[in-house]
Amino acid sequence: MLAVVPPPVTVRVPAKVNLHLAIGDLREDGYHDLVTVFQALSLTDEVTVAVTDDPGLEVFGEGEGSVPTDATNLAWRAAQELATYAGRAEGDDPKVRIVLRKGIPVAGGMAGGSADAAATLVGLASLWKLDVTRDELAAIAGKLGSDVPFALYGGTALGTGRGEQLVPVLSRHTFHWVLAFDTQGLSTPKVFGELDRLRAEGNPPRIGSHTPVVEALASGDPRQLALLLGNDLQAAAVSLRPGLRRTLRAGVNAGALAGCVSGSGPTCAFLCADAQAAVEVAAELSGAGVCRTVRVAHGPVPGARLVGGDDAP
Ligand code: ATP
Repeated sequence: MLAVVPPPVTVRVPAKVNLHLAIGDLREDGYHDLVTVFQALSLTDEVTVAVTDDPGLEVFGEGEGSVPTDATNLAWRAAQELATYAGRAEGDDPKVRIVLRKGIPVAGGMAGGSADAAATLVGLASLWKLDVTRDELAAIAGKLGSDVPFALYGGTALGTGRGEQLVPVLSRHTFHWVLAFDTQGLSTPKVFGELDRLRAEGNPPRIGSHTPVVEALASGDPRQLALLLGNDLQAAAVSLRPGLRRTLRAGVNAGALAGCVSGSGPTCAFLCADAQAAVEVAAELSGAGVCRTVRVAHGPVPGARLVGGDDAP
């Protein structure tokens, strides 16, 4: 008798931008506590998972040459974790093929690897017909990395702990963004290390409370939100990549309301007044010679979702 092989499943998953990223002091265990407000953007990766006798992972698109295709890929680790959770870990490798189509810049401070891990969890839960809730997947996601749970839920959220403890935040408006991609990524641990170094040397100013940002999101006024964008990692990212100062200036000169480094950088995110303004800022910025490429995106958008299906956990 022939076994019935389920059809492949594709999941679309958003990048994140941090509207507010306050980093605490270095803890004894080497981590930093943080308080962040994330927003999921319409800049996405697509992840396809399929049952196979020839397990493996392929990567296409943005930064494809710099993404590992071995067991260190976060999507592969997600498959292994879910296989163990579901009692499907026969042998070393889950019998799946994973194809990543990347639109999110690699090592760009937009949590692309975390997004792929979240998408893999949702895709395999569907492919394997697992009876798991999104909250159960979020518990597995938290083990994979601090940004993975947010990529599952999407929207706008307050993250505490290492960013994995999430509370949804009311956001009354669709916000319009322009993203400037740099020619090379930045290593997140190096940026944190640089922040520790800058803090040991002096006292770079720290951003304040997240409360005004949450209020601005509820008001839905992009001008109010623009005044409040803040990122404690920005000084460290700029210190490692001084050219970012010019990129940030160019975005505002092109008509953005404000700009900031996204997470650990080097991607710069510019908040614009509306969709039309974003298109105009993107056009001007791409001619300014300060970045590799620009994208227009809006947020908030939902987290990892099946493409062409509605039965995701
Ligand atoms: P972070 O979540 O640490 O802020 P980031 O968004 O800046 O990261 P990612 O694109 O997630 O950056 O990649 C960071 C590194 O992780 C890459 O340089 C790459 O070597 C590795 N990596 C592992 N899996 C993936 C993946 N699926 N996509 C991209 N990079 C991955």
